[in-house]
Amino acid sequence: MESHERVVIIGGGVVGCSILFHLARFGWQDCVLFERNELTSGSSWHAAGQIHTISSDPNISRLQGYTINLYKELEELSGHSVGLHATGGFYLASNQDWYDYLKRERSKARYMGLDQEFISLKEIAELHPLIDPQRYLAALWDPLDGDIDPSGVTYAYAKAAKKLGASYHTHAAVIETNQRPDGSWDVVTADGSIHAEHIVNAGGLWAREVGHLSGLNLPLQPMEHHYLITEAIPQIVERDRQLPAGIDYEGNIYFRQEGQGMLLGIYEPVATPWSVAGTPQDFGHELLEPQLDHIAERLELGFERIPALAEAGIKDMINGPFTFGPDGNPMIGPVPGMRNYWTAVGVMAGFCQAGGVGKCLAEWMIEGEPEIDVWAMDIARFGDYASPDWGTIKSSENYERRFLLTFPNETPPRGRCQRTTALYDRLTAQGAVWGDGFGLEAALWFADGPEDAHEEPTFRRSRAHDYVAREVKAVREAVGVTEIANFAKHSFRGKDARKFLDRVMAGRVPQPDRISLSPMLTPKGKLYGDLSIACLGHDDFMIFGSGAAQEMHRRWFESKLDSYDLSYANESQRYHGLGLSGPNARELLARITRDDVSNEGLKFRDIRRTFVGSVPAILTRLSFSGELGYEIYVAPEYQLKLYQSIVAAGADLGLKNYGLRALMSLRLEKNWGAWTLDFRPDFSAVQSGLDAFVDWDKEFIGKSAALAERDAEPTIKLVTMTIDTDDIDVSNDEAILKDGACVGYVTSGGFAHHVGQSMALGYVPAALAAAGTEVEVEINGEMYPARIVAEPLYDPGGEKMRG
Ligand SMILES: Cc1cc2nc3c(=O)[nH]c(=O)nc-3n(C[C@H](O)[C@H](O)[C@H](O)COP(=O)(O)OP(=O)(O)OC[C@H]3O[C@@H](n4cnc5c(N)ncnc54)[C@H](O)[C@@H]3O)c2cc1C
Repeated sequence: MESHERVVIIGGGVVGCSILFHLARFGWQDCVLFERNELTSGSSWHAAGQIHTISSDPNISRLQGYTINLYKELEELSGHSVGLHATGGFYLASNQDWYDYLKRERSKARYMGLDQEFISLKEIAELHPLIDPQRYLAALWDPLDGDIDPSGVTYAYAKAAKKLGASYHTHAAVIETNQRPDGSWDVVTADGSIHAEHIVNAGGLWAREVGHLSGLNLPLQPMEHHYLITEAIPQIVERDRQLPAGIDYEGNIYFRQEGQGMLLGIYEPVATPWSVAGTPQDFGHELLEPQLDHIAERLELGFERIPALAEAGIKDMINGPFTFGPDGNPMIGPVPGMRNYWTAVGVMAGFCQAGGVGKCLAEWMIEGEPEIDVWAMDIARFGDYASPDWGTIKSSENYERRFLLTFPNETPPRGRCQRTTALYDRLTAQGAVWGDGFGLEAALWFADGPEDAHEEPTFRRSRAHDYVAREVKAVREAVGVTEIANFAKHSFRGKDARKFLDRVMAGRVPQPDRISLSPMLTPKGKLYGDLSIACLGHDDFMIFGSGAAQEMHRRWFESKLDSYDLSYANESQRYHGLGLSGPNARELLARITRDDVSNEGLKFRDIRRTFVGSVPAILTRLSFSGELGYEIYVAPEYQLKLYQSIVAAGADLGLKNYGLRALMSLRLEKNWGAWTLDFRPDFSAVQSGLDAFVDWDKEFIGKSAALAERDAEPTIKLVTMTIDTDDIDVSNDEAILKDGACVGYVTSGGFAHHVGQSMALGYVPAALAAAGTEVEVEINGEMYPARIVAEPLYDPGGEKMRG
């Protein structure tokens, strides 16, 4: 064993082995993997081995496509069979909602280059004669689906990695991970210690325990999961080719041929978390006792839909644990607040996802950033609030919802109120309907009172539509108040604060008492932030940005601090606050502060420390509504007092609460994009239009890539569209078509209430980005005429905001 390696990977399941393979393949051969037992000694060995591409997130779907497409090559590289049956597979819809869902998936597949098509019930019967087609409305066919041998795949990754020069050791449990002052690690096994620059926790079922070795608590939970294998089925014995794989969403079952029988997997209606307190170290190649009563109801449904199963004897019943994360997606990447510590954990569909996880993690380690945006898998989307208990609650919820439809207007109910502001009860009493982001409750919209605060899940406009309309009206015509606790606030103080921000941010760093808008770029010129930089004093700065991305941005800032003399902190939890927007906002503000808030006294993009509503505050003049607006940040203990002051002062000014849905509607008619949706690392400054805020006269991270792009022919552009719809709007990820061909996709949208128009933002080829270009947008399988608009439909000159 070498005494020093660049990377030590802990865990020889499919995920760890894929990472080892990809690191070696991309040029880092001095990497080693430690496995406490034999390879595949966790959940990997007892997986059902079914593979499919569909996932809730388009980039995860893309990576699933990558994973599946890799299998043949992996077999050749390793010389080890992966047992691939490329049978193709279908997703079955037994009701209209699921049919609509599949139409949306097919729309995504169009721009992801995946080859999914609807097939008729007659074709289902021909492809899979064991299914009763009468039970279904439709089926979406994907030629990539099928199954593999889980152990074969894991060994193939490991062997291919070894051929490329990396190494792995079995029966080598990691018992300690100790960090040196320089950030490197001593990784201890019973055979001694090895020094590594980076470590990767790929501990699967034991990821929590591996995390504890370094003081890391992961919000993961292993869940029990059942599948059964039948005896030989005569219709299969008589066939000369393999049956395709299938997923029946409403039935919560998946199935495929296994030998001459069938395999049927079941997501139980009530999840059973396994080993909540921790995975036993001596657990290995055992299985759990099957719990027939947990699966009886869904089994019966499976028997109805695939009648041959009911007649076949059951040869084997598997109950095995595998790990889920709070939102069902993997948690990968460098852990914020830790140096050189990476995770690849919570991978619940390892045989669909491990290839993509390995690819992204290896690119991230070697090149500093993955090729595509991995936000949906980034460990930084969770923070301290994601406690182990919360992890168990959310993971259980996700397990149960694995094949349940989540509508765009739905907010899963469990694990709520993890973080609240002082106004939670007060706003609830006024009819707030809540959503949550980064564990914090934020009002989505306001009903007429608590009894009225509900809506039904739907793909179409919900009953919230009219309520949001009146909030928008209040903001456009009078004044609205909204919580801004969910925005991120990052502070930078000290001698080098300006120098640091000048380097890290692509835009201009403002002078004292001013705010500027700025993109933040990666070295490859991809967007990594869309932020407001505020200068509160000579060496005192604050950055406001996406609350969801606060840990991702913290990780980015901290990784660049080394040679600068300044202190940095993520102060998002230290400041809550309220936003005021509307033509009466100034009048209201003037009543609760002694400051001069006239247009001369407090200009657009000014900031100051002062007192508002009798409490200490940071007062800014900013607006995401396109209206005259102010953001007032206060410590959490002042939130209630500030709100009371605003409510008392605004009574005769038409003051109304407004929520996130109204805010997202208001920004549409201003053509403004939002972080995680329209702005994200899949796109660059030039493509997104954020190059308008770049200061080309200074040096900054990503400048050479951004310059090269600016000087070349543009490829794609972010555009705003109006869409002619009836009672439906886009959510996101819908295909944009021109002359029947998919040319781009929607990144966000909805109904712009003030101008009374369904709208969307999305990326299209630059040649199609001109105002007036006619395109079509596919929503729930229907094509709707759409038109690209250049100017915002509301106040294109920005006079309201600046006036
Ligand atoms: C019943 C069942 C059916 C499934 N069906 C499918 C399916 O059809 N398709 C699909 O894609 N996925 C399926 N899965 C999920 C799939 O099995 C997992 O996503 C996958 O196995 C996760 O792999 P992993 O490498 O993250 O974890 P694991 O397989 O758990 O691997 C972790 C490894 O780390 C090792 N380790 C732990 N601690 C240490 C330490 N301190 N030192 C050294 N080594 C350590 C363990 O011994 C283990 O080998 C199924 C799972 C189950 C249980």
